[in-house]
Amino acid sequence: MTEPPSAPHIMSDDDGMAAALEEAARAAAAGEVPVGAVVVRDGLIIGRGANRPITTHDPTAHAEIVALRDAALALQNYRLTGTTLYVTVEPCLMCVGALVHARVARVVFGAPEPKAGALVSTQRAHEAPWLNHQLVAQGGVREDECRALMQAFFRERRQKPAGLPGPSPPEDERAGPVVYLSTPR
Ligand SMILES: [Zn+2]
Repeated sequence: MTEPPSAPHIMSDDDGMAAALEEAARAAAAGEVPVGAVVVRDGLIIGRGANRPITTHDPTAHAEIVALRDAALALQNYRLTGTTLYVTVEPCLMCVGALVHARVARVVFGAPEPKAGALVSTQRAHEAPWLNHQLVAQGGVREDECRALMQAFFRERRQKPAGLPGPSPPEDERAGPVVYLSTPR
């Protein structure tokens, strides 16, 4: 069967992260913390997600969750076996839990998230011995680009004069500005 010519083929982790970076840019344009994610199976993107908790008044609307929902709808199946999720920033505990529930095979992230990342930074949640699903995790793909997007976003927001209209800062800033701006690599 021939794929439609417009379907982007994800041949490498770099390709997957490039697509996740597109979603992160979309989040930034909407005033959200710039995190993006895509779900890939058999070289095709089957789900996309841009971080959007502020605009949707939804504390669970992290990029990973949005992408998982998109992929599950596309497959008409809540199990996403054989998939890889690409996300620009290390997932939080909630998202690691969702990845396990969804039976995602592999998660690839760009930049670590020192404050809330639950794969390598604060804990290795996916390796908890009681989990009945093995999730393979890998970081550092296009890490500099992913981090630069976060740094630019927070730098711009800090420079914006007070009183201008715009979304109020999230109470819990995943990857807050202090951490990212103080740990350049
Ligand atoms: Zn999350």
